[in-house]
Amino acid sequence: MDMQISRQQAAGGASGHLTIDLGALRDNYLALAAMAPASQTAAVVKADAYGLGADMVSQTLFDAGCRHFFVAHIDEALALRLRLPAQARIFVLNGLQPGNEASCAAMAITPVLNSLEQIAQWAAHAKTLGRKLAAAVQIDTGMCRLGLSPEEQETLTSQPQLLDGIDIAFIMSHLACADEPGHACNTAQLSAMRQATIAFPDVPVCFSNSGGIFLGREYHNHLLRPGIALYGGAPSLDRPNPMKPVVRLDLAVIQTRTVPAGSLVGYGGCFEASGSTRLATIAAGYADGLPRSLSNRGAAWYDGVRLPIAGRVSMDSIILDISALPEGTLTQGSFVQMIGPEQTLEDIADDAGTIAYEILTGFGRRYRRTYIQPDETPAFASTSVNHK
Ligand SMILES: *Cc1c(COP(=O)(O)O)cnc(C)c1O
Repeated sequence: MDMQISRQQAAGGASGHLTIDLGALRDNYLALAAMAPASQTAAVVKADAYGLGADMVSQTLFDAGCRHFFVAHIDEALALRLRLPAQARIFVLNGLQPGNEASCAAMAITPVLNSLEQIAQWAAHAKTLGRKLAAAVQIDTGMCRLGLSPEEQETLTSQPQLLDGIDIAFIMSHLACADEPGHACNTAQLSAMRQATIAFPDVPVCFSNSGGIFLGREYHNHLLRPGIALYGGAPSLDRPNPMKPVVRLDLAVIQTRTVPAGSLVGYGGCFEASGSTRLATIAAGYADGLPRSLSNRGAAWYDGVRLPIAGRVSMDSIILDISALPEGTLTQGSFVQMIGPEQTLEDIADDAGTIAYEILTGFGRRYRRTYIQPDETPAFASTSVNHK
């Protein structure tokens, strides 16, 4: 395989290239949607679409037919509202915070109501406006994070007037262990969900995140709510990842050197060269979202060769042991692969002792981002990526 990025492009400035394949994103969306043909499929685009750019991601998914978008915060929803056509429905997962009622209503943002208090706030605002307001109502089926407790659900059932003025678009809940298909929590939450929705017979149900979609039909209901699988992350642990990779990260070599046996490498000198060792310093560090826990554990790749990280990850750089490559293969301006065909998002997350979600959302602002449009060819299956 040839180098993915030319020296001239490197000279253009950025020393890290993050490539986002919007075609793979669209294909992942369509593949998830095809798993549940009777359901609709939303997209979770919180945290700037898991670090990949909420505007580009949401527009691509809208074009693919997605009409329901979930973010965590009202500010994310307001930004998205200005970008997406009016047919897009935007939900705020973290709930209705006091003071946000007017902007939510004015901008046609659908809050997820997580407590009786939030239901009361929204109902009061509907009364003020003299019209019905839409909302999703979240119930807690066992995760103990957000949503109405079983007691609050009972209150709501016995006092339906609490919902006066509110148009419930969806009853929703969230699975705590959906990425572990055998976990007992899944079936327990499913039966809690079924129990709870008896009180709302005509209201559509929204239950499954990425992992939940793969738990089977009974988890699908009316609206799927995937995030990570859209972005190429594995929906289930300990199962092959069926999603297409969306992200590729290439990093520039900024210096190489050969050091003698006994040399101590990087901060703290916590890597000792056992023999004459060739090193390459590459231009990204923990400030760019490469966790410090990759120190002496992770690797980058070049042309099928694993290049272990030597010593600690610094703020702006990482040192690689490149002794496995023929001398002169890598020089200043060469690029190594951090995420791509040779090292998946999950590989790097595993090495770092974290999850793909944290790697994606951690990418800093210093990479040059290239979006491959859905109808543009080179996808990651080919060996070269076009950086413009
Ligand atoms: C983040 C989130 C999702 C998406 O989960 P994935 O595991 O990324 O598919 C869905 N629902 C809620 C409530 C969330 O917070």
